Amino acid sequence: MDLLEKIQQAGIIGAGGAGFPTHIKLNCKVEYFIVNGLECEPLLQSDKYMMRNKSDEIVQAVEEIGKAIGAKHLVIGLKEEYRDEIQALKNSIEKFNSKIKLHLSRAFYPAGDEQVLVYEVTGRTIPPAGIPLNVGAVVSNSGTILNIFEAMQDKAVTYKFVTVIGEVAKPSIVKVPIGTKVKEVLEKCGGVLTKDYAIIMGGPMMGKRMSKDQIEGRVITKTDGAIIVLPEDHYLAQRERMTIEHIKNQAKSACIQCHFCTDMCPRNLIGHPINPHKIMRSIALKEQNEEVLKQAMICCECGVCEMYACPMRLSPKRINVYVKGMLRESGVKWQNTTNTFTPNILRDYRKVPTGRLIARLQLDKYRKQRLQEGEGINPAEVKIPLRQGIGAGTIPVVNVGDTVEKGQLIGKVEEGKMGANVHASINGTISEISDSIAIKAI
Ligand code: SF4
Ligand code: SF4
Repeated sequence: MDLLEKIQQAGIIGAGGAGFPTHIKLNCKVEYFIVNGLECEPLLQSDKYMMRNKSDEIVQAVEEIGKAIGAKHLVIGLKEEYRDEIQALKNSIEKFNSKIKLHLSRAFYPAGDEQVLVYEVTGRTIPPAGIPLNVGAVVSNSGTILNIFEAMQDKAVTYKFVTVIGEVAKPSIVKVPIGTKVKEVLEKCGGVLTKDYAIIMGGPMMGKRMSKDQIEGRVITKTDGAIIVLPEDHYLAQRERMTIEHIKNQAKSACIQCHFCTDMCPRNLIGHPINPHKIMRSIALKEQNEEVLKQAMICCECGVCEMYACPMRLSPKRINVYVKGMLRESGVKWQNTTNTFTPNILRDYRKVPTGRLIARLQLDKYRKQRLQEGEGINPAEVKIPLRQGIGAGTIPVVNVGDTVEKGQLIGKVEEGKMGANVHASINGTISEISDSIAIKAI
């Protein structure tokens, strides 16, 4: 079996993003293979943990991937402040006589945005709505690379390293079987310290913000990497509760057209034709400009405009999400009118320092939390969603009452469809099959 087949069998999807199946992504020949170890979202540390503790595995997997896709350049991107991780990777690179180069970056947001990272490493701008392959690159994150190493040993994806931080008694990086309830992970971390709380699944900028009630039944999937617990009245939770009507009214009445949102927009800075201040203006006008509104389609939803740039605390990103939805419903698609993109010469001076962003997000309190490491969870039950990430769901290949072993295939993607297989994450008995497969531990 070749590497791509092993990756497909193991059910690997992008471990940090939307969950695109990795065997499809790596079915190409490219010049650059880039590992995204920047984890630019404030407070997250799972990638850092993996690079520090699994550097041998990461280096070996990157070398194998490089051979499979014919990459001339193998690059691992990480922050220059990650001293221990840099040393660990350098040691592994030497140990395996690897040609991998480290790309060290300042701590800025969103250094880990795929388009930003590719620009930083290659100097090439991926066209709006394009993918790294358009400029001869492929990007995968550290978690995906570790999964690929395991697939090389014929092991399927069965767990995630999850950063648990914020209002919990024992902030930690925990090894969590896929399908474990989020509530159980929080209990493992000593429980939540406040009675009323909100959760962010992922980073504070782009993660999914949820209420305490919404996490009931929510389980860890292959794309989760962090749980941030905040008091219910925290600034971020309050912003999340604003309705789109309120946000539109704010845009109409309070936008001063200073265009700071555009000046700081990371996509605008690499040369993409996106001008959030114009979208805000168009929303405020009776006669809306469709050409301007279309720019919302190339917004990556990083949130720099609304959480950092805007002096009026308005929400250009939420407006973009709203406009995008409307345009998609009407079948509008983005089309590039040029292949030439000119990055802003001031780009380097407009990078958002992570430290200042943390302060702006009112997360300073959690910045210095020391995370406990190395603990795992042994849940009494897991519920493994049949569909995880982009693509088709899987068809169960087990029945209620079957005994399964950790790593055993339980859901298979139909022949010819795009998707990723799912596997048992614990030893146990199948207790229920719906849109998830429940396994009770034995
Ligand atoms: S969220 Fe704002 S800053 Fe980020 S890409 Fe979209 S418009 Fe630009
Ligand atoms: S930064 Fe805020 S106030 Fe200024 S143009 Fe953008 S949305 Fe309007």
